[in-house]
Amino acid sequence: ERVISPEQQPDDNRMDSTLRPEKLEYYVGQERVKKKLSIFIQAACERNEALDHVLLYGPPGLGKTTLAHIISREMNVNLHTTSGPAIERPGDLASILTNLSDKDILFIDEIHRLNPVVEEVLYPAMEDFGLDLMIGKGPSARSVRIDLSHFTLVGATTKIGRLSSPLRDRFGVINRLGFYSDKELSEIVKRSARILEIEVSPEGAAEIARRARGTPRVANRLLRRIRDFAQVEAEGTITGEVVTKALELMEIDEKGLDRIDHRLLETIINKFSGGPVGLKTIAAAINEDSSTIEEVYEPYLLQLGFLKRTSQGREATPAAYKHMNIDLPEEMKS
Ligand code: ATP
Repeated sequence: ERVISPEQQPDDNRMDSTLRPEKLEYYVGQERVKKKLSIFIQAACERNEALDHVLLYGPPGLGKTTLAHIISREMNVNLHTTSGPAIERPGDLASILTNLSDKDILFIDEIHRLNPVVEEVLYPAMEDFGLDLMIGKGPSARSVRIDLSHFTLVGATTKIGRLSSPLRDRFGVINRLGFYSDKELSEIVKRSARILEIEVSPEGAAEIARRARGTPRVANRLLRRIRDFAQVEAEGTITGEVVTKALELMEIDEKGLDRIDHRLLETIINKFSGGPVGLKTIAAAINEDSSTIEEVYEPYLLQLGFLKRTSQGREATPAAYKHMNIDLPEEMKS
């Protein structure tokens, strides 16, 4: 298990829910998304209507599930949680939909993984709050329409490109969540430390934030792991020095990159002369799954400006050479 993986790991579950802010005002960062949502929520509440369907997209661990919880709290309605792969048949979706009350939130995580047959059922449900059920078989089969409560669908995806356009077009509000700044992550670390009753100095919080790959889930996980280190080695308080030492031990560098990131960059630089090189070739060379590279490792390396995506493949940038302490080839020096 990678300490700095943005994806949820089995032992994150409890931490994620303990540390989830419950109101929009405690949700750090993503200012534009927050502003938009707070206006839409207030307007819907004033009209006593359900909120428009909301689509949230962006890399894992940035707070999509948290936002769905916050929306339901702010609207004072129930939240029903499921995920694309969990809804296997149209009947599964029908039973979820018929159990919703007016204005309830239905949160579907990984919505891009919905089965197309199930998706067909979702269209009239989202658009007209209706469900078309087929009764009987053969020539006597007929379709019956069932009215549903006016609910809000909150869909979350890490891959907006995989969403079919009819589905995407049925969302009234589409929000992209981006990576967090060091300052925002440091605020998140301080807030989490207060909740978990961990002592952390301002420098300690800043050092964790710097290595958290722009991702609150990673910041919270690092905080928890470093707490053990601080307890055993440094009388409990997480200082800047404790963070530096703990992460050295965990082989995480000052930008939050671990051995796999290093291997990936070194491979592109040394084996493929800095690129461009295709994703599949890189995956085979470092023995990793290409979609994991694309969805989990790469977004942060692109964000740091260490990698470039070109039509011919991936390229390491001069900043990557510098970070890896490798001399730039002559042709890149100009
Ligand atoms: P995934 O798609 O991988 O499930 P996600 O985007 O739904 O991830 P969450 O589960 O919402 O991510 O968030 C992960 C953790 O980060 C939670 O513990 C949550 O409390 C914390 N977190 C996320 N965003 C924020 C934020 N803006 N402010 C404070 N804490 C946050």
